Amino acid sequence: MSNESHPAMIGPGGRPLRAAVVARIYDHASDTRSLFLTLADNGAIHFIPGQFISIAIPLSDETRTRPYSIASHPEDGAPYEICFNRVPNGPGAAWLFERAIGDAIGFSGPFGTFSLERAPAAEAIFIAAATGIAPIRPMIRRAAAGAHLAMTLLHAAPSPEHMLYRAEFEALAVRDAGFRFETMITPEAETYSRLLEQCDRRWVRGDTNRARHFYICGAGHGVIALRDLFRSAGYERRAVHYEQW
Ligand SMILES: Cc1cc2nc3c(=O)[nH]c(=O)nc-3n(C[C@H](O)[C@H](O)[C@H](O)COP(=O)(O)OP(=O)(O)OC[C@H]3O[C@@H](n4cnc5c(N)ncnc54)[C@H](O)[C@@H]3O)c2cc1C
Repeated sequence: MSNESHPAMIGPGGRPLRAAVVARIYDHASDTRSLFLTLADNGAIHFIPGQFISIAIPLSDETRTRPYSIASHPEDGAPYEICFNRVPNGPGAAWLFERAIGDAIGFSGPFGTFSLERAPAAEAIFIAAATGIAPIRPMIRRAAAGAHLAMTLLHAAPSPEHMLYRAEFEALAVRDAGFRFETMITPEAETYSRLLEQCDRRWVRGDTNRARHFYICGAGHGVIALRDLFRSAGYERRAVHYEQW
């Protein structure tokens, strides 16, 4: 069987999909889950940290696709982890929560330009809102594995149990003096207003250094507001990387 597709899996527009199988399920919190996927043909997904796969969601009337970031690390290979949360009235997230071990999932990809091959030759600030940590997790491991300047991860989430991969980032901060891990527990409705206030105070009004690179990810328009804050403050457009869900 080809590594590239599975004949039983056809996506929107008749495109062939690859078939993954749910190998393991892990609940971070009652509304936040990771699925660990192996490939039905034992193939591999060759991806750059930060990229996503497009998952086919078969609804009663149509098949939709939804992107999900690969939260695991390319160098670890299979199983590949995706991590997601429930979304009010969200059919894609609801369908994923219904998957059981052994179920097949059709996907295409990897895709995406919100990615990091190696650490930038500048200070790097990673800003994640809740499950927006998913693409940033492999980015940070990749950046930390090579030569890098100072790196900060600022992770905002509604509760300690939503601070995903916390132990891993804390351990990295102990091992790597160049990495700082900061958490912000905040009600969901205040996430971006608080991130904007803190980012403005520290990295806009705090000094005149405009050499930093930013990697921002989360759901909703606040990601764009953060991007605009940095770009309008004088940071180069290409230094402000973002992915809005
Ligand atoms: C490049 C990319 C990568 C993504 N990676 C992930 C991922 O790793 N994990 C993940 O949970 N989601 C991820 N998403 C979002 C995901 O694709 C779906 O949009 C989400 O699961 C909701 O789909 P739905 O069909 O359930 O709801 P829809 O009816 O499509 O609802 C969409 C609405 O939900 C909002 N939304 C999107 N994602 C979230 C979220 N996680 N929490 C709260 N509101 C949300 C959108 O802004 C939009 O307003 C990603 C999106 C993009 C564009």
